[in-house]
Amino acid sequence: SKAALFDAENRVKITFNDVAGLDEAKEEIKEIVDYLKNPSKFTKLGAKIPKGALLVGPPGTGKTLLAKAVAGEAGVPFFSLSGSDFVEMFVGVGAARVRDLFKQAKEKAPCIIFIDEIDAVGRSRGRGSMPGANDERENTLNSLLVEMDGFATDSGIIILAATNRPDVLDSALLRPGRFDRQVSIDKPDIVGREAIFKVHLKPLKLSADVDPKELAAQTPGFAGAEIANVCNEAALIAARRDRESIGMQDFQDAMDRVIGGLEKKNKIISPEE
Ligand code: ATP
Repeated sequence: SKAALFDAENRVKITFNDVAGLDEAKEEIKEIVDYLKNPSKFTKLGAKIPKGALLVGPPGTGKTLLAKAVAGEAGVPFFSLSGSDFVEMFVGVGAARVRDLFKQAKEKAPCIIFIDEIDAVGRSRGRGSMPGANDERENTLNSLLVEMDGFATDSGIIILAATNRPDVLDSALLRPGRFDRQVSIDKPDIVGREAIFKVHLKPLKLSADVDPKELAAQTPGFAGAEIANVCNEAALIAARRDRESIGMQDFQDAMDRVIGGLEKKNKIISPEE
């Protein structure tokens, strides 16, 4: 919610098992789990542990989920905020929130800080969106840079940030010692979609005719968020029809509904890969 800009759940229950597909991204990000669990393994050899990584990819592809899974696997607290929360903020508030977040994170380290939609606050400086609103965004970005530089690499804080617009980011954010690593998170192919369907079908009561392969084949262009949505819609539709279990027809209708919603949002469903 907009009221709570960040939250600290001491235990995130999400693990890599909850993240389907994204095998390469998971491999890359597993290194971060190791940094959080065994920092001395790296620091005793004089290595500087990276402070941050940028998760780059389209909306709904599991960037937040993956960041939470890192916290879950490492067993560390997860702090999050969204860049878009800062867009309409009063002077000084954004920068103060950032300082406050890092203060809390330092107290709870080792931990993960997750910044969703970092492009909303991290757009290159001087590249104006709305005049006026801009100054505060720049203040917020500056305080983020100051905070990132202000903790040691062995402090146990790792910052993960997500964006679908890496091209607009201020180059200062991408310098060594800041977000100098990028992990790309793409929309799933048919194999990925089947894996994601399987994760989200697991808690549902299904009829024998429900086939994850078939569902994956019928959903080109869908991101994980849309697949999760289809599964829940299908369950709601089946319940409304007083079914004992969820059948393929319920999924068919759920997919139509989700595609309808996507078209309304003017999102383009890309042709099959
Ligand atoms: P945004 O950029 O819009 O914030 P995101 O990339 O952070 O999107 P998430 O918020 O992680 O996407 O995904 C939304 C939901 O979609 C997840 O909570 C999960 O239910 C489902 N989902 C997305 N990707 C996957 C995946 N790879 N495996 C399983 N579930 C997924």
